[in-house]
Amino acid sequence: MSDLDALTSSAYSQALEVIASVEPRIADATRKELADQRGSLKLIASENYASPAVLLTMGTWFSDKYAEGTVGHRFYAGCQNVDTVETLAAEHARELFGAEYAYAQPHSGIDANLVAFWSILAHRVEGPWLEKAEKKNVNELTDADWESLRKELGNQRLLGMSLDAGGHLTHGFRPNISGKMFHQQQYGTDPETGLLDYDVVRAKAKEFKPLILVAGYSAYPRRVNFAKMREIADEVGATLMVDMAHFAGLVAGKVFTGDEDPVPHAHVVTTTTHKSLRGPRGGMVLATEEYAPSVDRGCPMVLGGPLSHVMAAKAVALAEARQPAFRTYAQQVADNAQSLAEGFKSRGAKLVTDGTDNHLVLLDVSSFGLTGRQAESALLDAGVVTNRNSVPSDPNGAWYTSGVRLGTPALTTRGFGHDEFDNVAELIVHVLQNTQPGTTKAGAPSKASYVLADGVADKVKDSSAEMLDKHPLYPGLDLA
Ligand SMILES: *Cc1c(COP(=O)(O)O)cnc(C)c1O
Repeated sequence: MSDLDALTSSAYSQALEVIASVEPRIADATRKELADQRGSLKLIASENYASPAVLLTMGTWFSDKYAEGTVGHRFYAGCQNVDTVETLAAEHARELFGAEYAYAQPHSGIDANLVAFWSILAHRVEGPWLEKAEKKNVNELTDADWESLRKELGNQRLLGMSLDAGGHLTHGFRPNISGKMFHQQQYGTDPETGLLDYDVVRAKAKEFKPLILVAGYSAYPRRVNFAKMREIADEVGATLMVDMAHFAGLVAGKVFTGDEDPVPHAHVVTTTTHKSLRGPRGGMVLATEEYAPSVDRGCPMVLGGPLSHVMAAKAVALAEARQPAFRTYAQQVADNAQSLAEGFKSRGAKLVTDGTDNHLVLLDVSSFGLTGRQAESALLDAGVVTNRNSVPSDPNGAWYTSGVRLGTPALTTRGFGHDEFDNVAELIVHVLQNTQPGTTKAGAPSKASYVLADGVADKVKDSSAEMLDKHPLYPGLDLA
């Protein structure tokens, strides 16, 4: 055991003892969560394992400090150490991504998108409106002025990728606030190939003339050409916002470069920090100088006090992502997705877009005669953690779905490579081939219940355990 492993083990053992002295059931649940994560094949494409340094950074007294405002300009006294933390997080982010400006405060990906939407509205709609009305800021407005500005703010158009094509619910989906505050339209993917068709996006943009064109996805297994997206945005006068929540790690690790790197092409880029980027649970916004002043007002525009302990952990994670080892990791994430996709295809399974060139694979389970819900549940019984996901024009809708989404970031962190991911495909196909759709209590066909053949779950768990033991999670972490 290395010195650092020994330190990590004693830090966690002692921390859990302190927690147990107040509420032992929370300490127990925390230990159990580690055991569960260690013992299952985590293939959820949006999850990862942050380093002990990142995790430990979150458990400090920075959590106790209020720091609304920005660096050097806080609404509370005594924020000098928070200023250090936020400055470092933003500096690492700018250097890592080559961004002109970085905002490290958003509490989550959804919050980063809210900051982006309102910053773009402030910059593109509110600013020019105030200028025309010869007002310095909104505090100078009469009630009648305000009514008129409010109408303009609430009458803007957004074009994003549809949910069933792989877009995110914050990109204009009706149940989300983005689908309520904007007039929204969606672009999908080609019904034959499942691929983005830039000519279709361009035609839609020309007809709809959005203020904001959103690119980015949660379940599209391909790369996006952001240079082309910017061309389209420019042709219609839209602001290009790229939500790289899922693939930020591949951008950080220089797997996506040139036209596939959103940072040089987008006006505003949003992200989470906990997915492929492997940091703490949180969000971030990158922007050009032009948009920086309005993004900088994210708190108090839509955010409350920053989570300074999480910003500190973002700085640590971003420092990690600037190490050469992170590039090796990111390339392995993409290589492993190839291995997983090939593993499925060679065993006759059907993939949306017939493959992948990022970190995720979308398995169409209809050829096994199952819904996504049935497949997800049967796989979980066998210790394989995935999530069901719509496929384009899904006949089973967004709840039962016809797909299962699988990602490689987490298991790549554990050290899985080509052979392991080929075996993962084998195990998944084995489970699905041995699962039958079930019936309701009344005997009707069900989209939820299923029957997994006897012995399959145990066999798959044994085979997974071998791989998981060979690639332990937090290898040096031994809880007393
Ligand atoms: C995950 C995700 C989000 C939301 O992130 P949260 O931290 O869960 O709020 C936003 N956009 C995209 C594209 C995502 O994949």
